[in-house]
Amino acid sequence: MNNQILQNIKAIQQRIENACKTSGRNSNDVQLLLATKTVAAIDIQTAIQSGTTLIGENKVQELKDKFEALKIVPHQTHFIGHLQTNKIKDVLLYADCIHSVDRLALATQLQKRLEQEDRTVDVMLQINTSYEASKYGAAPEEALNFAQAVNQLDRIHITGLMTIGLFSAEAERVRKCFQLLKHLQRQILDKNIPVHELSMGMSNDLEIAIEEGATMIRVGTAIFGQRQYPDSYYWGETLI
Ligand SMILES: *Cc1c(COP(=O)(O)O)cnc(C)c1O
Repeated sequence: MNNQILQNIKAIQQRIENACKTSGRNSNDVQLLLATKTVAAIDIQTAIQSGTTLIGENKVQELKDKFEALKIVPHQTHFIGHLQTNKIKDVLLYADCIHSVDRLALATQLQKRLEQEDRTVDVMLQINTSYEASKYGAAPEEALNFAQAVNQLDRIHITGLMTIGLFSAEAERVRKCFQLLKHLQRQILDKNIPVHELSMGMSNDLEIAIEEGATMIRVGTAIFGQRQYPDSYYWGETLI
């Protein structure tokens, strides 16, 4: 199992290299984030020891559960799932960056908590570039206003934009999502908001994302294998 994870990471690194070659990019400019939802801490340790030290979790409970076990391996943790405002306090204990700031109400609450704690946090703004109703993220038409509003909140440091591409076998439709995020990045950079990171691309579409300018790809299945998890891992906590 462990060996398999390391082999899979090598294969992903090769895919990153190839995609960078195709698009004339430097592979040092594309970071790999391990999407570790439902993966046991011991397997995450193995992956981190291979030198890939950036992980992303979707659930605050999983952040908590794995925190102790992962302390022994230096790494960075990003929160990449849908964040409910009542989990802000916990997420700030365990995550170095929140990838999924998708609405102003969340950012406002986050600012409030950060003021109380007298600290700051790095975030990315999640944009719904596929226009699927099931997905979270600010509407692309709102992205500039959203970024400008969040940028007013002094405890929140915006580092980039994040999106989940359309789940489709039609590469050109997937590509449109990533092109849209790149376009929004240019608009927002024009307003001097430092959205340098573009977090886009997963197991099935990372080549397209890299060709369109991804600086961070989030890969789970191609490294840890198929796992069983409800859709709520992508789309947030369903109220059961
Ligand atoms: C699970 C997940 C990923 C990784 O997707 P794979 O298809 O398993 O590579 C990326 N981003 C988010 C937000 C995820 O929840």
